[in-house]
Amino acid sequence: MGRRSRKPPSARGTRRGGTGRPSALRVAAALVLLGAGVALVIVFGRRTPRPAPEAVPDPAEVVRAVASRLGCASERITVERVSDREGALSSVTVHAPAGFKVQRFELELEAAVHNLAGRLARQPLTEGGGYGLARLEGVVAGQRVRVVVLGEEPPVTPKGVRPPQARPRLAIVLDDAGASRGVVEEIAPLPREVAVAVLPNAAHSAEVARALAAQGREILLHMPMQPVGGPGPGPGDGAIQVGLTRDEIGARVARALAVVAEARGVNNHMGSLATTDMPTMRAVMAALANRKLFFLDSRTSTATVAEQAARDAGVPTLRRDVFLDVVSEPDAVRRALQQAVARARGNGSAVAIGHVHPITIEVLMQELPALAHEVKLVPPSQLAD
Ligand SMILES: [Zn+2]
Repeated sequence: MGRRSRKPPSARGTRRGGTGRPSALRVAAALVLLGAGVALVIVFGRRTPRPAPEAVPDPAEVVRAVASRLGCASERITVERVSDREGALSSVTVHAPAGFKVQRFELELEAAVHNLAGRLARQPLTEGGGYGLARLEGVVAGQRVRVVVLGEEPPVTPKGVRPPQARPRLAIVLDDAGASRGVVEEIAPLPREVAVAVLPNAAHSAEVARALAAQGREILLHMPMQPVGGPGPGPGDGAIQVGLTRDEIGARVARALAVVAEARGVNNHMGSLATTDMPTMRAVMAALANRKLFFLDSRTSTATVAEQAARDAGVPTLRRDVFLDVVSEPDAVRRALQQAVARARGNGSAVAIGHVHPITIEVLMQELPALAHEVKLVPPSQLAD
């Protein structure tokens, strides 16, 4: 747990021999060892005038060292070589335990890397605050490195009993549609069970929602909600904010639903703050209960109370298990999809949320046909209860 394996930088003489030997013998042995040591230094000193390879720090070890100081065990850190448009890089994923001090981690990691004459810079996250906790990119010891910190996964809790022969069910929702009309064509070849969550405040929200519904797809209202403050884009106009009156929240939900009129359910866009506030969530759920809509908790905060508020109000609800594209690269999306399938197997069902990014759509197009014998794709409303 959290152990660092670090070799001492210099070779040391090996102690051997027992106790109680005549001292002359010990002196002779010491002289032989000393001689051997000197010979080794001469031989290797000549043969390798440049610094030994160990002198170049492994970027992943640097991340491990900092994370473990802050209480994150090393088995929670995975490293892989991936490539993007600019070439190969080391991708380090930190699965942070509950209560992990993310900002301190960022600061200490930046400092540690700086001491190695490298640089890691913080990058924005797609839906920051919650599951995707931090992302840093840069160069360490001459190598490109990316570090992604992911928050706690929701625990696996078997949902009732299912017949053993039934295939596990998987719901996939693609978030953030509405800004571009092109997404309608891009998504068209995907199985119609793949649902889409449409923002109410984007350039083409109503038109895109209508066209995607016409493909036979389930549409969700992707309701903008207040995130924990910080840099990066906000949730946009008409968002649910903490401190609004119940009437105002009801009015904002109604206005959003008038735009995304095809919605069968609602999930939160951002909302790492709003979903933790019970009065705010009660007001949202009251607005949904009248309309017989379900609520999918995107879980952008581990402290979310949205599911509880939904149950209290009698709103059918479900929660996100896996985010597909925290890192928007084919291999990362493929792996996240496999995680979602594994979770569906362990749990009977699972919900994966991605975004309408071309890479996510492309990977789903490639992978879903082969997954058909493992999981049954269903629209999310079928998993809401
Ligand atoms: Zn979103």
